[in-house]
Formats: sequence, C-alpha cells, structure tokens
Amino acid sequence: MCGIVGYIGRKEAHPILLDGLKRLEYRGYDSAGLAISDGKKISVFKSAGKIIELEKKIGKKPISGSAGIAHTRWATHGKPSTKNSHPHCDCNKNIFLVHNGIIENYQELKENLSRKGHKFRSGTDSEVIAHMIEEFGKKYDFREAVMETLKILKGTYGLAIMSKDFPDEIIIARSGSPLILGVGKGEFIIASDASAIIRHTNKVVYLEDGELAVVGKDGYEITNVRNHSIKKKISEVDWSFDKAQKQGFEHFMLKEIFDQPGAVRDAIRGRLVAEEGVARLGGLRNVEEELKKIDKIIIVSCGTSYYAGLVGEYMLEEYAGVPVEVEYASEFRYRKPILNKRTAVLAISQSGETADTLAAIREAKNKGALVLGIVNVVGSTIARETDSGIYNHAGPEIGVASTKAFTSQLSILSMLALKLGRQREMSLVMGKRIAGDLEKIPKLIEKVLKESKAIKKIAKKYSKYGNFLYLGRKYNCPIAYEGALKIKEISYVHAEGYPSGEMKHGPIALIDKDFPSIFVVPKDSVYEKNISGMEEIKARGGKIIAVATQGDKEIKKVADDVIYIPKTLEILTPLLSVVPLQLLAYYVGVSKGYDVDKPRNLAKSVTVE
Ligand code: GLU
Repeated sequence: MCGIVGYIGRKEAHPILLDGLKRLEYRGYDSAGLAISDGKKISVFKSAGKIIELEKKIGKKPISGSAGIAHTRWATHGKPSTKNSHPHCDCNKNIFLVHNGIIENYQELKENLSRKGHKFRSGTDSEVIAHMIEEFGKKYDFREAVMETLKILKGTYGLAIMSKDFPDEIIIARSGSPLILGVGKGEFIIASDASAIIRHTNKVVYLEDGELAVVGKDGYEITNVRNHSIKKKISEVDWSFDKAQKQGFEHFMLKEIFDQPGAVRDAIRGRLVAEEGVARLGGLRNVEEELKKIDKIIIVSCGTSYYAGLVGEYMLEEYAGVPVEVEYASEFRYRKPILNKRTAVLAISQSGETADTLAAIREAKNKGALVLGIVNVVGSTIARETDSGIYNHAGPEIGVASTKAFTSQLSILSMLALKLGRQREMSLVMGKRIAGDLEKIPKLIEKVLKESKAIKKIAKKYSKYGNFLYLGRKYNCPIAYEGALKIKEISYVHAEGYPSGEMKHGPIALIDKDFPSIFVVPKDSVYEKNISGMEEIKARGGKIIAVATQGDKEIKKVADDVIYIPKTLEILTPLLSVVPLQLLAYYVGVSKGYDVDKPRNLAKSVTVE
C-alpha cells in the first residue's frame, strides 16, 4: 500500500534508496526501513516515524553496498513501530524483504510455520513470507523457494527480496500491488511508483500480477511463478516529477476519488464470503458472543464519518434488526447517554485520532458499554482504546476532504449489517444477495468514474451559483448531507443537505432560479416520493441536477442535468451515488482555482476539541 524502492548496480545504494523513499513520502506512511548488501553481509536499519528518523539512526557513516531494498510502511497488521517496520527477515537472517499489501492467509501460514519451529519477531503479516522462503529454501534454491512461496500466498503483494547467499540479485514480484522496474545503464531501480525512478531513468518495465523478476546488475529475467519466461517491452515514462507525485492526477483528492474501487476491494478482501452470504470480520473475533447479545448500537463520529454512520443506521436497522442511534461525538460526550452492557458504541474515524470521538468512547467505556471501532490508521489511539474493531485498509488518505475513507466505511458498515443480520434473522438468500452485490461494487464505481468528464462539464455550468440544496431520502439522505459537506469544504460554496421529504417544511422557501438543487434519486423504494419533491422544485423555477439510475429516462423530464449510476441493491446505492457528488465538488473547487487538497481553515485529523 505504501512504498518500495530497490537498487542494484554499481553505485552506492544508500543515497539512492533514501532519495527514492523521499520521493514516495507524499503517499503518507508511518515508518521506514532499508537493507543493503555489500556482497558479504546485509545491514538493516528501521525506524517508526518519518524518513528523517531513519536517517538519524543511520547516522553519518555511509552504509556500503550496491544492492538494497527500502520501504515506507502504512501499517495494516501490527501497530506502527520499529519492530514492525520492514525489511523483515527469516530466523537465520538470510532472507530480507519489503512488502506492500496484505497477506490474507498469514494467520494460518504463521501457525504452520510456528509448529515447524519458526520464531517471529513482528506482528506483521509480511514476515511470514520470509519464513516461508526459508522453509522452502531447505529443498529449493532462492528463486524456486520464492516461487513456491508465491504459489501459496493469498492477498496482495508488491515484494522485493534479497538473500545473503545470493548477493548479486534482488527478486521482485507483484500481485495486486504496483511494482515497476527502472532500466538504467548497468543499474536497475525498483519502485512501487514511477516517481522514485524517473530521476535515474525514464525506461521502465511494468510488472503485471503474477509476474516476478530476478534482477542483477547486468540484466533481469521475468517469469511467472511456474518459471515460464515472459518477454516484456520497455516503456518510456514521460511524467514530470510533480505529476508523478500524484500518479498523474492533478490533486490527491482526485487520485483518492479514483482509488475508491481499490479501497472497497481492500475493505472486503478476505472478509466477504459471497457464496455463504456472510462477512468474516476478524477484528471482532474476540467479542463474537457479546455481539450476539447486543440490543442497541450507538455510532459516534464526526464530519464525513458521521454521515457514514447515518447510512450505517439504515443498513443495520433494516438488515440486522438492531436499533441504532447516530451521535455527533462532540455532543455525545456532554450528554447523559443511556447505555448498558448490551449496548455497543461504535466509533468511526479515518485517522483514529479524532479528539471528540476519542472522548466519546472513553465516556462509553466508563459506562460499561462494548466499544468498537472502524478506523483506517492501524495502531491509532482509537484503534488501541476500543475493545475490538475493523480496519479499513484504505491506505493513506492525504486530501483533507475525505473520499475513499467514506466509501470504505460504507463497505464495512454493510458487512457489519450482514454479519449481525446473519447472526439474527437474515436468510441465507438475502445474505448471498447483499454479499454478491457488494462484491460487484468496485467494478460499478469504475463505471461511475468513467462519467467524470460529463460531471466536469456539469460542474463548470453550475460553478457560478453561490448556493446549493442537496436532497435525498432513506439510504441516500446522508449522501445528500455528505454531498453538501464536500462542496462546502473545497469550494467554499454555501450548501445545505436535507432529507428530501423535509424540503417542503422550510428550505423550499429558498428556491428560485439562482438556487439549484441536487437530488440523489436512484430507482429505489422511495423513488416516486423523490420525484414529487423534484416536481415541486421545478414548479418554483429551481434548476435540478439528478443522480439517477442508469436507464431512467423519465428523470430527464424533471431534471435539467442527469448523472447516471449503475443499478445495485438499495442498501448499496450510497457507495455509488456519493461518487458523482465528490467529483462535482472537486470540479467546482478546481474551477474556482482553490487548493482542493488543503482547503482553508481545515485540518486532516482533528485532534482538538
Ligand atoms: N501488510 C504489511 C504491514 O502491515 C504491509 C503494509 C504496507 O503496504 O505498507 O506491515
């Protein structure tokens, strides 16, 4: 998920690796490390925190050697710490590797290896890979041992591996995590992202999933895990450095909007079992019995996470049959909440450091509630202080306005509804329907993203307006709130989110030709009700943008502009309908010339009350 850099050639690897890591810094990370071989020994340095901490550890004395691997970590398994930083190694300190991604079956592999006497030093999923290579190394050579290991791994990986016994090569492999080989003169630079390579060469080979390369200082060989050789063309990168920082996107926010299919995939990976219609949420394993008994859930959160909570309320009540309240964390902490042992308090926070949410869970704990979390940052304070929880695995979110963390939160909440529902009344058939459709969501988000050009045009057309009313009903009512929040945050335009049924109880007074409305109106159980609301606005001369279901031609009769989203189950529509609203806000902000990645007055993680 974060960064890999590798070097093999004739120069000193140390400065090249550190420079490469710094080029990847923009992606966000929580720790860093490197390993360098001088042909005889491998020296390793690791540190939690920023790259500067790693540099301090290395000190002024250069580490000699012209082959090495380096890593910036975004923890998914095991808290951010020096011990958990990469590179990781086997028992004999022969095999060193850096890994990006998640090994889904690491638990089972770790148990097997422990039975065989392997001793683990970290809490990561990645370390099992080094021990597996060591184990296979008893029968095979380095290369074959890596191939045998890769055949067994489940999940995602970008890998760079070195062996003390084979100091003239680095083996790299990818499945689901990017990895690029930069081809220089008598040297090769390996990186998870072109920005760490372009300083040295613009000639690159893009590895595909299932491919691995054995790289030496004079050449490389690419094969699949069955050792069949693969010929690949060398491409030229024509990125400017600045563009490469954002993988070709103009802003992090846009990149993160486009990251969403991957973020949802990573949220459901290894958790959703579509054939059985269930969700296995490993992070809740220790409270399995308590979860069966809870009779109320209180969700506490702030900002975008609060709106995710509101969608969660509809999901959990409809499909798990558990009453849910959603509270602003900042209010909850000062209320006198009525809770007991059968109440679960669920905190939702991207950063895991949100001060109000933290205070709310401390209060809930004092009162004896079961405290759960949905958090993106592993090892963060909220993650540590909850009894149990589910990590998003959405990767670092750098844009201040949250996008991919939101869809990731919705994916997890729908899996929680599935889990609690199946523990209670939900049938196997319904479970399979939800799980099956959730599995398809990443592909459907990709379809919505294809509409970005059309959305950009609509944004341009409406960017002159100073007010917007966002409306939606049921599952999409919180999406209207979130759409309004997004445009406020990055375009500094006044916008209000309302349940569409509430519109006639007040806000309709605002409507005239200069006050457009955005209606989230998929073909769901409240579709007709929404249409009536749209008619009322149209009758008062208000302009309307509708987010509607593909194939709905009727909508064009009432709306001035329509953005289509694919059809899915009603419970999952928010995962699609929010995407056009994020894009709309983004393009309005950009057309006004604002710094959408760092909106004025806002902080990414709000650690003060
Ligand atoms: N899953 C690995 C870990 O937690 C790698 C995370 C990453 O991609 O940085 O250490």
